[in-house]
Amino acid sequence: MKQFTASVVPLCVWMVGTAPVFADGAFYGDPPNETHPWAIHDMNRPQPPRVEPGTPSTQEQPGKPPSDAIVLLDGTPASLAKWESGKNPGQPAPWKLTDGALQVVPGSGEIRTREQFGDCQLHVEWSAPTQIQGNSQGRSNSGIFLTGDTEVQVLDNYNNPTYADGFAGSVYGVNPPHANALQAPGKWQFYDIIFRRPVFKDGKMVDSGRLTVTINGVVVQDSTPLEGGGGHKGRSKDRPFPDAGPLKLQDHGNPIRFRNIWYRPLPKRAVEGGDMGAMDPAAATAKKLEIAKSIRLDAESKQGEERLLRLMESLCYASDDATVKTIDTALGNWTEAVKKTPANGMEAKKGSIMRVFYAVRYLTGFKLYQDSAGRKGEIEQIIRAAGWDPR
Ligand code: MG
Repeated sequence: MKQFTASVVPLCVWMVGTAPVFADGAFYGDPPNETHPWAIHDMNRPQPPRVEPGTPSTQEQPGKPPSDAIVLLDGTPASLAKWESGKNPGQPAPWKLTDGALQVVPGSGEIRTREQFGDCQLHVEWSAPTQIQGNSQGRSNSGIFLTGDTEVQVLDNYNNPTYADGFAGSVYGVNPPHANALQAPGKWQFYDIIFRRPVFKDGKMVDSGRLTVTINGVVVQDSTPLEGGGGHKGRSKDRPFPDAGPLKLQDHGNPIRFRNIWYRPLPKRAVEGGDMGAMDPAAATAKKLEIAKSIRLDAESKQGEERLLRLMESLCYASDDATVKTIDTALGNWTEAVKKTPANGMEAKKGSIMRVFYAVRYLTGFKLYQDSAGRKGEIEQIIRAAGWDPR
């Protein structure tokens, strides 16, 4: 396999250099393998969904979320209705909306979203009062609790030392932020968080979970392992998290303001059955079968050479006796028909002949098709007889 991979490199270069349309087709990059259901540069892989980007926030006004964001707070009473009291579940959130921001009412207790969600990209903006009160953990403390559990600390640490693993932007009780990137109290602070919860399977941790956080555009957590999620005083231990939970905001007795809170769910990781990265072999096989089936279905809508090539393409994902038999017959018929082409008609067929030749060479090279009738050799002879270069 390795030898073949090396031999196709010049082919790819040739294709990119002289016929870029080939690079958008099948039989180009390495085929799917045991844990990856897609070929490299696979045009059958779904296109990324379109998202209209948002606009950045300024001190004067919040920005616009991306088009697919789920807005949790935009300063309207309707968005506040998405939250409830933590002390009195089901009751309205007891914090107050002022000038488009939501202010903690000290003593009223935490608030949490009625909606539950898990892995996400989360955007939160908060501002500490300009009138400084207290120090260390007592100065403008709040917190953002992912799945209602792990706290990304909110604290006015502008000129306020405290224990490092309780700093603004810390995974509280787990890891200090890499930097203190806060602005002065009264300014809006912009948190962007990427949260991946820990995943356990059959009692064993398959992913420790990770938090990435930027504060005002500065990375302060970089895929920090959650180590159980942290907490106050006690050292946490690895443990499974629920698939989803509410987002909680902490009432620590300080009148912090929040605005412009939104999130976007993240795709499933391979360990959860998603197709991002190396998958479990059984899941990859199931996915490959699904892809092969859809390509074969698509082939039914095509005729002649296009149908043949599409069926051949399906072998990259999964073999199937009936499909192989159909290909054997169709490829044989195609080769015989080409042999009957008069010499002065060959040039017009060059593109088509080369396409089928590359497909057969790719499939046989990667041992995805047996070519028991030896059609590859026959087509190569046709190419050489026409004076073309089969490389
Ligand atoms: Mg806190």
